[in-house]
Amino acid sequence: MKPLSKVLITGTCLLLISSLISHLLPDKKVPDDPAAAGNPDEITIVMASEKDQKPQEEEEERKGDTILSLYDHRAKKLVRLPLEEYLVGVVAGEMSASFEEEALKAQAVAARTFAVWHMRSLGGRGCSQHKGADVCSSFAHCQEWLSKDRMRRNWGKNFELYHEKIRQAVQGTKGKTMLYDGKPIEVLYYSTSNGKTEEASEVFSRSLPYYRTVDSTGEEDAPHFKDSVACSNQKFAEIFQSKYGVRLDPDHLDKEIKINGYTESGRIRDLTIGGKTLRATEFRLLYQLNSTDITFVFGKDHITMITKGFGHGVGMSQVGADRMARQGKDYQDILHHYYQGVEIHNY
Ligand SMILES: [Zn+2]
Repeated sequence: MKPLSKVLITGTCLLLISSLISHLLPDKKVPDDPAAAGNPDEITIVMASEKDQKPQEEEEERKGDTILSLYDHRAKKLVRLPLEEYLVGVVAGEMSASFEEEALKAQAVAARTFAVWHMRSLGGRGCSQHKGADVCSSFAHCQEWLSKDRMRRNWGKNFELYHEKIRQAVQGTKGKTMLYDGKPIEVLYYSTSNGKTEEASEVFSRSLPYYRTVDSTGEEDAPHFKDSVACSNQKFAEIFQSKYGVRLDPDHLDKEIKINGYTESGRIRDLTIGGKTLRATEFRLLYQLNSTDITFVFGKDHITMITKGFGHGVGMSQVGADRMARQGKDYQDILHHYYQGVEIHNY
């Protein structure tokens, strides 16, 4: 995603108002993106810990650690590494290292729960895209994961500071996962809310008891709280036709687009466009919008879609977690707020 100037866009739909935090990723598990996950054409098995072999005590500490099998989609290889070490790479990739310590801890527990739920040695099914892997390193499929080299590149002179901060967040929650009915939950989280979280069945195929609509406030100043995508009316119609085979009148999009209803969180549930009814989640993907909280602005030649929030809205808002931490809440408060009725225990 890139910041753009306010020029009139005729050829394609583009983001008009945007600022960046590259490490704040939009979604967890939506959509499955095979292209982003790469191909396991070259599989090498490496013990990550062999690379940075360090002092004996570290080696001792690793004895008895749970080992996870990660498909590194950038290096295209399978890596085996201790779960807790893997989590440092996930928190580094999924959340801004500048966030509050308690928010980083909440992210660490969410990431650990995700991993434990997938681990085959703990009864999980592994990553569905990469044979032999418990999880992959793609945010579009499993969870983002950064190698130490990549962290160094991203953080430059802040590497030591941020790495230590994240390591402590992982260490400070060691072994902790979220359970419901004694089992690890299916974890979902995302970047920024529109002010409320979404109920799971509004986005996915089924409901899960711990995902209910709750307030997530104080995110208005976040870089992705508000964005907009604009494109020419013609282009909008072309994109729709190429996907659904439905021809729209580009001069009357205001009459072609009808919002049918909203979810409890204020996001659009479904719309009818040119007689074709579709879920807002589908529409969002088609036009690459940040969320389904969409306001349409119809211009003479172009259409603007203004969105609030970034991501599917189910579960923890990462920015919301940071805002709760700023208000003095600890990681357990944060998790209990976004994942209702869970217990936090060692897996
Ligand atoms: Zn995966």
